[in-house]
Amino acid sequence: MADDDETLLRTLTWILSENGYDVVAVPEPRTLFERLDETAPDLLMLDIMMPKVDGLQLLARLKAHERWRDLPVLMISSMPPEEATVRSLGLGAADFIPKPFRVRELLARVQAHLRTGEALRRARDQARSSVAMVDILHEITDATRPDEIFQVLTRRVGRLLSLARCSMVLAQEGSSTGVVVAAYEDPALRDLKIDLTKYPEMSRALEIKKPVLVANVATDQLYALIRQRWEREGTRVPTRSAIAVPFQLRGGTSGVFFLRNNEGEARLTEADAQFANSVIQKAVAAIEKGYDMAAALSDKERYEQLATVDQLTGCLNRRALQEKLELELDRAQRYAFSLTILLLDLDRFKHINDTRGHLAGDAVLRQVGALLREEVRSVDIAGRYGGEEFVVGLPNTAEDGGLVFAERLRQRVADHPFAIGQETLRVTVSIGVAAFPGEGLQSLVDLLSRADTALYRAKHDGRSLVRL
Ligand code: GH3
Ligand code: MG
Ligand code: MG
Repeated sequence: MADDDETLLRTLTWILSENGYDVVAVPEPRTLFERLDETAPDLLMLDIMMPKVDGLQLLARLKAHERWRDLPVLMISSMPPEEATVRSLGLGAADFIPKPFRVRELLARVQAHLRTGEALRRARDQARSSVAMVDILHEITDATRPDEIFQVLTRRVGRLLSLARCSMVLAQEGSSTGVVVAAYEDPALRDLKIDLTKYPEMSRALEIKKPVLVANVATDQLYALIRQRWEREGTRVPTRSAIAVPFQLRGGTSGVFFLRNNEGEARLTEADAQFANSVIQKAVAAIEKGYDMAAALSDKERYEQLATVDQLTGCLNRRALQEKLELELDRAQRYAFSLTILLLDLDRFKHINDTRGHLAGDAVLRQVGALLREEVRSVDIAGRYGGEEFVVGLPNTAEDGGLVFAERLRQRVADHPFAIGQETLRVTVSIGVAAFPGEGLQSLVDLLSRADTALYRAKHDGRSLVRL
């Protein structure tokens, strides 16, 4: 209540206090803005006619001020009611109360405006929250790992609520230490261990599993012991208010979303706590969905692995090989690309089986598979076509390039000491090559039988050879 009439100020203060309101009297209306910053009132009663300042001018300044624009203002004046009402309401006052006032009417108006003020504030907070929430969730869904999500949350909420500090702390109920995994004020910070006994709001939030708001660290009961400690140790702490919102992830991870503001900054409110809580709960849902997706993905990947990879050689199995080759041939036909196919067959493999045993034969096949996978580019297709036959598909590669690659591969196998137990073995391959586009080559079957004919030639000409 700002009025330079001290008697009126005292009377009104008494009446309102008797009716349960906290009243701050401002007898020097020129200091109004400073006093507003200190007290952050829910309602302002302002005299229109004061000798040193013009109440209507103050009202105009309030309404132009971002922070106080929505503060309901009741104008009090002995001006002729009609003129004062028109001018006050025109400038954005909530109401006008003529002097002399009737107590019951005054109380009724104060109560009505406090109620609409509260409803307005809630509506605005909600609107702000839901817009911000959509924004934040958007960014969360782009992030995939929990630590990225924590970074996003601290940054977005910190910026949105103009916080001095905002961090994500992993901690268990009852534990005396926690680990800061993300902090708005220090984006580079990772895994900083902290002493939870210094943060009673965090311990309490973990304990009761509900958000804890400490609007004023200097007076809150929760901080009584800490304040004593600060006094003993001569510690100065800049924090003015704090919010601790607990969260719990499936699988036992729990923690606190921790928001703080310093002295001289806006005090944190119940609305801020609710907002932080809904943000973190949505994030928890997103993180858990992420976990499910990761689990499902690796199941799917495992399944695909089994379905497409030949377990002995690590190359594609015959079915997957054929599928991929079909796709590549299709692409080659459509866009007039070239595609070369190599058909490899191990030379005198029956002899290895017969003299060294079937397991030795398997070991050779495994090593040929590994060599093939090492040699091919990532776009190439290497698969096991049959028992000791392999196929390599080389997309965007014409006949001469294919021949060069085939020769390199043949040499590589011939040079490789195949380890069989303690011994090593020399193994060679014969390779038949077929290249698309080529005469009479329409389908994959055409291409493979052309390669098979070439392979037969390589065998016939003496083995360990490449033939077209
Ligand atoms: P060539 O130089 O003419 O190719 O002579 P080769 O002995 O390799 O003759 P062929 O290709 O006809 O013989 C293939 C042999 O490979 C027959 C079969 O016993 C053996 N084989 C096929 N699959 C496997 C396998 O998975 N493991 C083992 N150890 N042997 C296999
Ligand atoms: Mg064979
Ligand atoms: Mg063979």
